[in-house]
Amino acid sequence: MPVARGAPGAAQRFEFDVVVVGGGIAGLSAALGATEAGARAVLVEKAPLPERGGNTRFADAQMRFPHEPDEFGHRRYTADEMYDDLMRISSGRANPDLIRTLCDRAADTIEWLTAFGVEWEEGYPHTAGYRRMPKAGGQGLVDLLYRRLEGLSVPVSYQTAASDLILDPDGSVCGVRCTSPEGVVDLEAAGGVILACGGFQANVEMRVRYLGRFADSLILRGSRYNTGEGLTMAMAAGAAPAGQWGDYHSAVLDARSPAVECGVTALYNYQMGIFVDSRGRRFIDEGEDFRDHTYVKFSKRIIEEAGGRAWCLFDQRAYQREEFARAWRPVGPPFEAATLTDLARDIGVPGEDLLETVAAYNAAVQGGDYDLDRLDGKGTRGITPPKSNWALPLDSPPYLAIPVTGGITFTFGGLGCDARARVRHTAGHVIPGLYAAGEPMGEFFYDNYPGASSVIRGAVFGRIAGHEAAARVRARPG
Ligand SMILES: Cc1cc2nc3c(=O)[nH]c(=O)nc-3n(C[C@H](O)[C@H](O)[C@H](O)COP(=O)(O)OP(=O)(O)OC[C@H]3O[C@@H](n4cnc5c(N)ncnc54)[C@H](O)[C@@H]3O)c2cc1C
Repeated sequence: MPVARGAPGAAQRFEFDVVVVGGGIAGLSAALGATEAGARAVLVEKAPLPERGGNTRFADAQMRFPHEPDEFGHRRYTADEMYDDLMRISSGRANPDLIRTLCDRAADTIEWLTAFGVEWEEGYPHTAGYRRMPKAGGQGLVDLLYRRLEGLSVPVSYQTAASDLILDPDGSVCGVRCTSPEGVVDLEAAGGVILACGGFQANVEMRVRYLGRFADSLILRGSRYNTGEGLTMAMAAGAAPAGQWGDYHSAVLDARSPAVECGVTALYNYQMGIFVDSRGRRFIDEGEDFRDHTYVKFSKRIIEEAGGRAWCLFDQRAYQREEFARAWRPVGPPFEAATLTDLARDIGVPGEDLLETVAAYNAAVQGGDYDLDRLDGKGTRGITPPKSNWALPLDSPPYLAIPVTGGITFTFGGLGCDARARVRHTAGHVIPGLYAAGEPMGEFFYDNYPGASSVIRGAVFGRIAGHEAAARVRARPG
C-alpha cells in the first residue's frame, strides 16, 4: 500500500530529485536521461550486482528503428513503415500515441546510445533489415550503460527492492519505500519516481492469475527478479491497468532449455522446416509470415494446441544453409537419423503417421524461387495447414528433429501511460510524479509481437521519463 511522506517504518530516509526503480535498459536510460537533464538521480535495483541488468542482459538486444539505406545493404525503413508494422501486428489495438512516439524517437535514441559507446552489428537474417544489435549483446549494453552511470557518479543501490510508493496528501508521488540489506529505506524524489522494473513474468502466482493455469510451468527466458511489484504498487496508488493483461511475449524454445533464465535458446529458423506434434501431425503454417511476426504466436500454439511440446523437423538442405546456425543457439544436439522411420522412433512419434505427414507435405510443395528474404510465395497446395512461403520438400537425409516448447519472456499488461511516460490514474488524469518505462507500460502489444521492439521501447521511454522527471524538478517553485 502507498505510504505517506514521513510515515513510520523506515530505518533511513534519503532525498533525490528522481528515483529510478529497476536497472535494465529502461531504468538505465531513465537514470542517464534524468542526469543529462540536470537532475540528481538514484537507481535502485533488486538484484545483486552480478545479476543486474534484468531481462535486457539475457537478450541479444536487437532493436528495430527507422533508417536510411545502410552499410549492410538494407533498404530505407521509415518511421511510418515502422508505425504501420507495429500497429498491424497488434491488429490496430496498440495505443497510437505510444507507438507513434516510439517510432519517431527510435532513430535518435539509437544515436544517443551510440554516443555512449554502443557499437552495432547486423541483426538476425531475414527480418527485412530494420534491426541492429549491440555487438556485445544485451549484457554488454547494460554493462556499458552502468559504467556510464558510474562515470557520472549516479548512485546505484543493489539488492534494494522497491515495495510501496510514497504519496503526498494531494496524491502525487514523492518517493518510494524500499527494502535493502540495511532495512527499510525511504527514497524521496522531488521530480518523481520512474518505474522501470519489468512485468510479472517471474511471479508464478500472478502468471496463473492473469494468464491462466497453464502458465505455471512456462520456461522463464529472462530475469527471475521481474515479479510485478512495480505494477502492484502503482495500481495500489490508483494507477490504471492498461493493455492486454491476459497475454505475454514468448518464443519457440528448445524444450531442453533451463527452466529459469535460459536466455537465447529460441529457434529462429523454423521457417526452414516443419513443426509436428507428438502424433507426428503438422498443425501450424510455418511460412505464414516473416519469423519476426510469427514466433510469439507460434510459441503459444505449441503450448495450447500441441500440449506444450512439439518437434521442428529439418533436412540437410536446411541444415547446411549458413543462416540455419545463425538463427539457432543449440541447447543440445539435434536428434539425427538417416531415415524418417528411425527419427520417429528416436523422438517417440508414431512412425507411420510421421511418414504420412512428410509424404503429404512433400507432394504438396509447389515450384518457385526460394528466398528467405521475402515472402516468396513458394508454398504448398492442397494440404491443411498449408505452408505459405519457403516450402521445400523434406527429402535430403539425414533428417533432424529439435524438441520445442513455448516459454515466457515478458507480460503485455501494464500501466496506462501517455506519450510522456506519465502514468494515468483510473480517474483519467496523470498521477503527478509517477512515470513508467519499458515493460511496465501497457498498450504496446496485443496477441502478437513485432520482433526487436521491446529493448528500443525501454530506451526510448526510459530516456523520455528521465527528461520529464528532471523537468518537473526544474519547474518546482523556489
Ligand atoms: C532471452 C531474451 C531475448 C530477448 N531478445 C530481445 C531482442 O533481441 N530485442 C528486443 O527488443 N527484446 C528482446 N527481449 C525482451 C527485452 O529484453 C525486454 O523486454 C527488455 O529488455 C526489458 O527492458 P526493461 O528495462 O523494461 O526491463 P528489464 O531489463 O527486465 O529490467 C527490469 C529491472 O527491474 C528490476 N526490478 C524488478 N523488480 C524490482 C523492484 N521491486 N525494485 C527494484 N528493482 C526491481 C529487475 O531486477 C531488473 O533488473 C528478450 C528477452 C529475453 C529474456
